[in-house]
Amino acid sequence: MKRQEAFINQNTMLKGGLHCHTTRSDGVGTPEEVIRLHKENNFDFLALTDHRIYNYKNFAEDVDITIIPGMEFDNTIDRTNGFRTFHEVYIGPDDETNGYAQDEELPRGEEPNQEAFQRLLDDAHSKNNLTFYCHPQWSSTPTRYFDKLKGNFAIEVWNSGCAIENDMDTDNGSYWDELLGMGQRLFGVATDDGHAMYQHCKGWVMVNAENNVKAILKALKNGAFYSSCGPVIKDFYVDDENIAHVEVSECERILFQCDKHPSKSFNAKDEPLVSAQLDLKDSYQYIRVTVEDKEGRKAWTNPIFLK
Ligand SMILES: [Zn+2]
Ligand SMILES: [Zn+2]
Repeated sequence: MKRQEAFINQNTMLKGGLHCHTTRSDGVGTPEEVIRLHKENNFDFLALTDHRIYNYKNFAEDVDITIIPGMEFDNTIDRTNGFRTFHEVYIGPDDETNGYAQDEELPRGEEPNQEAFQRLLDDAHSKNNLTFYCHPQWSSTPTRYFDKLKGNFAIEVWNSGCAIENDMDTDNGSYWDELLGMGQRLFGVATDDGHAMYQHCKGWVMVNAENNVKAILKALKNGAFYSSCGPVIKDFYVDDENIAHVEVSECERILFQCDKHPSKSFNAKDEPLVSAQLDLKDSYQYIRVTVEDKEGRKAWTNPIFLK
């Protein structure tokens, strides 16, 4: 039996936002307004990841929400006829062991390729920060532009801002599967990247952890979470007979994706789907599940690594 880490010894699942912007950079809402909005939408934790300026602070002190320290870093790699860029969200521990200071500002990166950019990413990791790769489609970076980056724990599988404004980064499963197929142990995060107020609170992670910064970061690093724009995922495991099982809230479609064909989709007929099973006849490297509800909102499990 192999159960995905989000569903082992399950705590109350915490709803969290890992990527948003405020008036500290180019967001519309003040930090206080953005925090209050997330609390109204039942978020347990939130990272204020303004561009190249680090934050630890809860700007709405009466609001009970865990602030995950963080920021978004960006590096432009090409400005001829448009641009290509690497954007990475950094999230880190409380300030005793975090290498960044409150309000610390970083210059924009100007490294020409991923090999050179890795030096900047290594610096973030040496300062005890976790990193994830943002909106590859919006950034005009095919997988070959970032496939050698080391140390990211995740890639954005959904980004609300890019989805709403550009119809991009609505399901980055193909980038993710390509990297997983190369043997990377990479997780998927749904984020908002909210700049305008209407972009916030549309995509989130559900994390199996106690509600403190250290426990949440550890759970994220271990893949003990799933991502969602609406549907609830209740369980996901592969049993001793090599059958994959998933249990979800009422939905229209459940898709199992593996490193080799055939992946398999189950579609609701007369009744909504609440579970599905797939006999893994072949020997797969990993399996993951995408769920879609009636409104077209998706949720994504992290992979179960079978090898
Ligand atoms: Zn970005
Ligand atoms: Zn952003």
